[in-house]
This record gives sequence, structure tokens and C-alpha cells, in this order.
Amino acid sequence: MRTLNLQQLILLLSVSTAVLVLANTFYTSHKTQRALLIEQTLEANHAYAAKIAGSVDDFLIAAQQQLAFAAEDVLLAQGNPQQLQHIVERLKQQTNSFSSVLILAADSTALAITRPAQHFLGKKLHNPGAAQALKEQTPLISKPYISVTDRLVVLLSHPVFDAQGAYLGFVGGSIYLEEESILYALLSQHYHLDDSYIYAVDQDARVIYHQELSRVGEVLVGNPVVERVVAQHAGHQPVTSSDGVAMLAGYAPVTRAGWGVVTQRSLNASLAGMDAQMWAVAKHSFPFFLLIVLAVWLLSRWISKPLWQLARSAESLDAPDVSAQVANVADWYFEAAQLKRAMLRGLAGLNKKIGKLNVENITDPLTGLINRRGMQMTLDEWEAARQPFSVVMGDIDHFKRINDKYGHAIGDQVLQFFAKHLQASSRPSDLVCRVGGEEFMMLLPNIEQNLAYKIAERLRKRIADDICASVGEPVTLSFGVASWSGGPERIAEVMKHVDLALYAAKNAGRNQVRISAGAAASVLPVI
Ligand code: GH3
Ligand code: MG
Ligand code: MG
Repeated sequence: MRTLNLQQLILLLSVSTAVLVLANTFYTSHKTQRALLIEQTLEANHAYAAKIAGSVDDFLIAAQQQLAFAAEDVLLAQGNPQQLQHIVERLKQQTNSFSSVLILAADSTALAITRPAQHFLGKKLHNPGAAQALKEQTPLISKPYISVTDRLVVLLSHPVFDAQGAYLGFVGGSIYLEEESILYALLSQHYHLDDSYIYAVDQDARVIYHQELSRVGEVLVGNPVVERVVAQHAGHQPVTSSDGVAMLAGYAPVTRAGWGVVTQRSLNASLAGMDAQMWAVAKHSFPFFLLIVLAVWLLSRWISKPLWQLARSAESLDAPDVSAQVANVADWYFEAAQLKRAMLRGLAGLNKKIGKLNVENITDPLTGLINRRGMQMTLDEWEAARQPFSVVMGDIDHFKRINDKYGHAIGDQVLQFFAKHLQASSRPSDLVCRVGGEEFMMLLPNIEQNLAYKIAERLRKRIADDICASVGEPVTLSFGVASWSGGPERIAEVMKHVDLALYAAKNAGRNQVRISAGAAASVLPVI
């Protein structure tokens, strides 16, 4: 697996933190918004149910008052069927409260009755509402029942007593529950256009109003909201509807009748707006989030750059310009500054050590001349740079004899003597090397072959004329000369040629200079 770098880590950390914070904010605000919306919907439904229940209550009170007034008129019109009929007609038409109005004698004979039940006039009427009113002889709102005209109705009634307090019967108004009665209008006038709805139940949990008329008359069992409102409590709570939909319900009792009004709205509909709102928030915050990521990315680059540069430099400590690279790193904060200082200190020490090692590596300890390795490095550089040069190779004649005669230590001194000689005869740009036991090479840049020959010849002569102090006699050298013009031949070939030239000098009797003529060595005509 690829290791992450500091910038990626900072970016990862920052972006994941931002995402987490954002997600948490969304989650929390979603949760609180949801709770708030639910609470608001519940409260609104409660208030709405209370308002509707209040209206129904007011209507019932008014309707009962109308019946009470009519009861007084009934007493006055006693025995006058026409007047009684007039009372019921007026009550129905003036108030519009009732679907039908009737006056019933104590023996349940219909004394007056509005359409469409007029055929019951003079006949005894037997229905649960009338029976209840006749029995209880008090102002009454009956339980819903099926009327003689085969409708689900409730009967509001007011008793009629004569001056002596004898019960004469009652005046009653029935309200049809399954048709567009005044009660129906009252309940449906506030009907929401969205998917919230109202229903009303009587004291037995029987539906007396529902937007779906077919559900009127149904008894709702096991519904906690209905149970509460039937017990004449007001309030709100979440509830599951009969078809399994999660609802938010508010409820309030119609105390006059012992009924209850429930308004409810599905949970999904209540929260639908919120999801759109959350999406809008998410959409609006997304560009901002991208901006943050961009800013974090730039910042992480800025922070990690010095460390990244130091790390890259640490990877290539042997690069020639690594110290300059490290020195250029912008160390604008503590850690980077410390690391940079430590690296520069380390590099300085290392360079010193490497420099020393390099010098030791390419120097011949006995003579202080450059050794074969050092010479090869120079030749490699010159080959790469196409630097023309001539090479003069010298070998001490009969050195073994000197060693044998004077001992190895004196032999060493002789070697040092020649090293000095060669060095003294060279220019600063020349390279004087000891490449074997008693073999030397002089690399002469920009010196062509003939000139190199002359130099070698002069050197040979000077050495041959000099008495080596250590042995008290002249010691001679044989020389080979070769040149390189900068290609296309390889330098290694030139070195073979110079070796051959030296070999030729030895063969020719030593203490001589021979010049390479390519593969074969030849004597150069004396210039
Ligand atoms: P020629 O080159 O003229 O053919 O004869 P030579 O005797 O010089 O030939 P050869 O190359 O066979 O001998 C070289 C000798 O140099 C052999 C070795 O003992 C001696 N020698 C090599 N390195 C050193 C050194 O570092 N110190 C000393 N004192 N002698 C060395
Ligand atoms: Mg020799
Ligand atoms: Mg030799």
C-alpha cells in the first residue's frame, strides 16, 4: 500500500472532520426540526379540534335554546294543530338548524311534524330518540339512531310542561348525520385541503361525522385518541390510523353532547416540507463545503511543503546540490525550522567526511600522487566532456634491481624522488598519477601528441642527468606517449596504446620515449 504524505493526511483529517461536523449538524437539526414540526402539528391539530368542538358546542347550545323557546310556544298553541304545525315549520326554516322538527305528545303521538315525515302526523312515533326524550323528560341530545325515515340521526329535544308541571310531551329537532346537515356543514367548513381531516364521534365512539360519508355510523374500537376524547379529554398525540398510517392527532370534547372531535394529519405530510427544507440547506451549504475543502487543501499544501521538501532532500542526500535544496526550504514554523537546521548540520558533517574520504580514496599514500582510481575518475569525466589530452606513461628501468641492491625502503624513497620530479615538471592543469608499483602517468589536457612527446623527452633527459640522492646514481625511466583528440575512439583504447608505446620503449633498450601510432608504437622522428 502506498503511504500517505502529510498533506494528504491533513486533508483527510480536515475533510473528514468537516464532513462529520456537517453530518452531525444536519442530523441534529433534522432531529430538532422534526420534533418541532411534530409538536407544532400536534398543537395545531389540538387547537383546531378545540375550535371545531367549540363551534359544535355553540351550535348545540343555540339549537337547544331555540327548542326551549319553541316549547313555550307549544304550550300556548296547545290543542291547535295548525299553530303547532306552524311552530315546527318556522323552527325548521328560520333556524336551519334541523333536518326535521316535530312535536310529540307524552303518549308519543306526533302533533306536528315537518316534511318528509308528515305522514306520521297523528300517529304514534316509536324511535330510540323519541323514547329517550319521553322517558327522561329533560332537554336532551339523543344518541345517534336510525330514524323512521331510515336515516342516521340525532334528536335534540326540549320537554313541554303545563303550568301545573304536568308533562305534555316535547318539541324536537333531528339532525341527519349522513347528509349535508348544518352539523355536517359546521364540521366540514374548516376541512383542510391537504391531507389532514376531521371526524367526530359520539359518546359510544360511533362516528357521527367523517369526510368519507361511508364511515359515518362506524364504531371505533381500540383507538386511544377516540378513547381519550370520548372520556371528554382534550389533548394531542401521535396515533396510527385504521389503515396503518402514522398520524398526528389533536382532539377536543363537545361537552354539551358528550361527543368528541378529532383532527389529524399524516406524519409524512407534516414532515414533507422539512425534507425539502433540509435539501435546500444541503444544496446551499455544498458550495461552501467545497470552498472549505479547497481552502484546507491549499493550507495543507502550505503546511506540508517544507516537510515534504526536506523529506525529498533526505531521499537523495548524495545529490550534489542537496545542501542548497535544504537551505532553500521555507522554514516558517518550528518543526520545519528545527529539521532544516538539523539536516543542514548533518549534511555539513557528511560533506566534510565524504570530501576527506574522496581525497583519501584517490591519493597514493607513498607519493601523494593521484592513484589509479583517481586517474580513472578524471578520464571518465574527460571522456564525457570530450576533453582532448595526451598521456605520458613512465616506468622506472630495472627497479627490481634497486630494490634488491638498496632495500625496499630505499626503493620507496626512489619512488618519492620521481614523484617530485614529475610533479615539478607538470602544469597545474596536468594530472600526475602513480598507477602501479613503479609506473607513473601524466595526463596533459589540451596538449597534442607531438608536444607531449617533447615534454616526455625533456623529462626523461632531466631525470637521466640527475643523480638520485637515495642511491647516489642516476636512475632512468622509459616513456610511452599517446593522445586522444576527443573521440570517436574510447579512452580505454588510448590507454592500451600508451602501454604498448612504453613496452616499445623498454624493448628498444630503456631510457627512451616512444609514441603510440595507434595500435602499433613507433619512433617519432626527432623534431
Ligand atoms: P623494467 O621495468 O626495466 O623492465 O624492470 P623492473 O625491474 O623495473 O621490472 P618489474 O616491473 O618486473 O619490477 C618492478 C618492481 O617494482 C617489482 C617490485 O618489487 C617493485 N615495486 C613495486 N612496488 C613497489 C613499492 O611500492 N616500493 C618498492 N620499494 N618497490 C616496489
Ligand atoms: Mg620497471
Ligand atoms: Mg614496471
